[in-house]
Amino acid sequence: MSDLESSIRETAKNLLTEGKVDLILGYEKGALPLRAAPCFITDPTDVDRLVFDYSCDLNLAKFLREHPEKKLGIISKGCVGRGVIHLVVENQLNKENITIIGIPCQGVINRSRVIRKIGEREILEVKVENDKLLVKGKDFEESLPLDDYINNLCKTCHYKSPPVADITVGEATASSLQDNFEDITSFESKTPGEKMEYFKDELNRCIRCYACREACPVCYCSLCFIDQNKPVWFGKTADITDNFIFHMIRALHVAGRCVSCGACSSVCPMGIDLNLLNRKVEQIVKERYNFESGISLETPPPMGAHKFEDGQEFMIEED
Ligand code: SF4
Ligand code: SF4
Ligand code: SF4
Repeated sequence: MSDLESSIRETAKNLLTEGKVDLILGYEKGALPLRAAPCFITDPTDVDRLVFDYSCDLNLAKFLREHPEKKLGIISKGCVGRGVIHLVVENQLNKENITIIGIPCQGVINRSRVIRKIGEREILEVKVENDKLLVKGKDFEESLPLDDYINNLCKTCHYKSPPVADITVGEATASSLQDNFEDITSFESKTPGEKMEYFKDELNRCIRCYACREACPVCYCSLCFIDQNKPVWFGKTADITDNFIFHMIRALHVAGRCVSCGACSSVCPMGIDLNLLNRKVEQIVKERYNFESGISLETPPPMGAHKFEDGQEFMIEED
């Protein structure tokens, strides 16, 4: 058990014992290697289930709306804290009922990438040792460079600790406000044909299972546009054209709301990397509105606010 895990458990135990929260939401070891599961704890004697490591890729903010009547404590790495704050700003959560327990994060491992590397062989154990990822199975053991398997959004993450926290456990990582979107600039230097090939390769694998939507903290519409059939916004096949439209519309729906957690890519069974789409939209929102989601309780998201001086170049003006 790491020092951080031990502090998380102690904090959770104190909050439950003192009656400051009814429920602690954190991570516990999942059934498979590299898979942490959400963990709901109400009894202080259960806090030893709590873990925090490279496998904690889900955004726990997703689960808070299910418990509106409870006083909740949520173990929050940077993007979880941002998810909570953004949902409060969108009036989906009542901050008075929520204690954000901020923890520092070192990034999470992209499990699909590891599975693609290992192929058909069954992974039985995964360990991180210094800068290596040790993957073991029945008849094999591989040592992989850790950095190659860290989720892409974690590499550009500049809020590894939550920007707003009620309690801080461990040493908070300072936020870096500089983000020059080098990953996007580098992708945009490709030719249109190369860019199209990249997206075709990725989106052709999509089986439209919607795990990406289910994992996303800001995808909470009671009736998603995908499921509507009156009107039918687009076809429901897994053909490349329908897949393109689905992912483009979803990216626009989370514009100014996405908290760059990478959970949508982490849970994708086909290992599709949606991060570039999310990052491009994040860049547009940052440049246009100077807004980042989930960092302030006061600033309304640009898509939920209107100013008369907003640019309206999409309007057709008469001569
Ligand atoms: S984006 Fe990655 S590095 Fe940043 S807080 Fe989330 S999991 Fe951690
Ligand atoms: S989780 Fe992956 S396969 Fe499923 S709909 Fe999303 S992108 Fe497609
Ligand atoms: S779109 Fe993906 S990266 Fe953005 S908040 Fe949702 S799950 Fe996280």
